[in-house]
Amino acid sequence: MAHIIAYYDFSNIDYKKYLISINEILQSKVEEKTKIVRLNLQERINFTQRGLELHKHDEENICAFCGNEITIKTIEELETYFSADEVK
Ligand SMILES: [Zn+2]
Repeated sequence: MAHIIAYYDFSNIDYKKYLISINEILQSKVEEKTKIVRLNLQERINFTQRGLELHKHDEENICAFCGNEITIKTIEELETYFSADEVK
C-alpha cells in the first residue's frame, strides 16, 4: 500500500541549488548542424559520409567519383557536418 505523506517541510529545500542547475541546463545547447547546401538528400549524405571515411586518410586526396583534388577545407567542412550530430 502506498504511503501517503501528509506533511513535508519544504523550508529545507535549497532552491538556490535548483536555480543554478536550471540555469546550467538553459545555457547548454546542442551544437547546430552546419548546413551544406549540396547535401540535400539522404542518399547524398550517405554517399558523402562513406566518401569522407574513404578519403580522410588518403594521401593523394583525389576524389574517386570525379577525379578532382579534395581540399583540406572540404574534409574539415564534412567532418564538422558529420560530427555535429553528437551532443558534446
Ligand atoms: Zn569529386
